[in-house]
Amino acid sequence: MSRNDWEVVIGMEVHAQARTRSKMFCGCSVAELNEPPNTHTCEICLGLPGVLPVINRAAVEACLKAALSLNCEIPRHTKWDRKNYMYPDLPKGYQISQYDLPMSIDGYLDVGERRVRIRRVHLEEDTGKLIHAGDKLHRAWESYVDLNRAGVPLMEIVSEPDIRSAEEARDYAMELQRVLRYVGASEAEMEKGQMRVEPNISLRRTGSDELGVKTELKNINSFRALHRAIGFEVERQIELIESGGTVVQETRGWSEAEARTFSQRSKEFAEDYRYFPEPDLPPLEVDRAWIDELRLGLPELPSVRRERLAKELPHAIAAAISADRYLADLYEQAVANGAPSAPTANWIVNVVAPTGKFLSGENLAELMYLTASGAITRDQAQETFMESVETGKTPAEIVAEHGYAQVSDESELKVIAEAVIDANPKAAADFRSGKKQAMQALMADLRKRAPQANPTVANEVLLKVLG
Ligand SMILES: [Zn+2]
Repeated sequence: MSRNDWEVVIGMEVHAQARTRSKMFCGCSVAELNEPPNTHTCEICLGLPGVLPVINRAAVEACLKAALSLNCEIPRHTKWDRKNYMYPDLPKGYQISQYDLPMSIDGYLDVGERRVRIRRVHLEEDTGKLIHAGDKLHRAWESYVDLNRAGVPLMEIVSEPDIRSAEEARDYAMELQRVLRYVGASEAEMEKGQMRVEPNISLRRTGSDELGVKTELKNINSFRALHRAIGFEVERQIELIESGGTVVQETRGWSEAEARTFSQRSKEFAEDYRYFPEPDLPPLEVDRAWIDELRLGLPELPSVRRERLAKELPHAIAAAISADRYLADLYEQAVANGAPSAPTANWIVNVVAPTGKFLSGENLAELMYLTASGAITRDQAQETFMESVETGKTPAEIVAEHGYAQVSDESELKVIAEAVIDANPKAAADFRSGKKQAMQALMADLRKRAPQANPTVANEVLLKVLG
């Protein structure tokens, strides 16, 4: 048997936090990461008796936007169900989710050449979080419960097992993140726990249609970890089967430190959550006109934009810009305001994106014009950019205030060049005797004396004076 005898079969379950201000069924605001425990709770999300949940319209809207952007159908009838289980981070003893009538079904997401079918996108509430503390040596363990996350709206996006490699799984998760962000359904920040990815992995003989026994991976908190964890799991399963063993259906965790997956709990017996319809919430009938309105309001999706921008920009630059809707909007606004496409795109990728700070397309166009015309140096352009972002002033205003604007006047530069040569007789002599690199020292001194000198013109003037 060889590696090629096996086909890898991967399905993905992704939980993404719906972008809302408040929780799924109560008015509590959604806590930021690391806020003091239990400061965003009320009788509803604490699960006290006698309270009634109320559906958060913004969460439904986020879920519908995600579903529509993933080409899903929105059935006429949808409802809420209780998923019952006992766990300390779930004081109600059940989680409100959607079982047999999810909010959306039968969509797909294209990832490169692969079409990954989406089985369903539904809404549910998050649970709380356990914090373990204590002294391992003396076995004095303490566990605390933080319910800030209890009731936070989550979208569960379930794919069919259409993915065939660790690379494809990572690309799928990245593309999904871009789509969710583009349509404003989720911020999908993995490090903040706003997007959790759980791949399930099985193997089958190449050419077979049957599905093998799958394992499900948890605790994955980056795209890199997703790629590594699946890679490890695929190799583990191949080795296991080829050495005569069998894969057990189970949930496995990923240890980043040890770079391996490990068994968490066996799933030989399907969990029985005793789902039943949530009696405190009416079935949800989503208004068709609202769906049409949301569909019409969807922005151009990242893959479409990437292809369109790739017609005018190098592929890698088009991909980098279209990955973020704000960068792509900025680029298009700047170009619409007359900025040249290639330098603007480079500027966005190399200067704007790393700072995470944004200016208007109009201001960027002005800045690009000032740079291209040689009015300001690249360093001055960077300073102007930062100041424009912080103060809201236009680049032209900033350049005027600072008295930037390069000196390109040859007679003015000639006086400075002569002073530089007088002050650096050795470098000047070296240059004249053929040591071309002596020019660097002369230019450095010139720029110190006249930071506003246009470097190209100054270099020419220096050469003239030396010659
Ligand atoms: Zn609450």
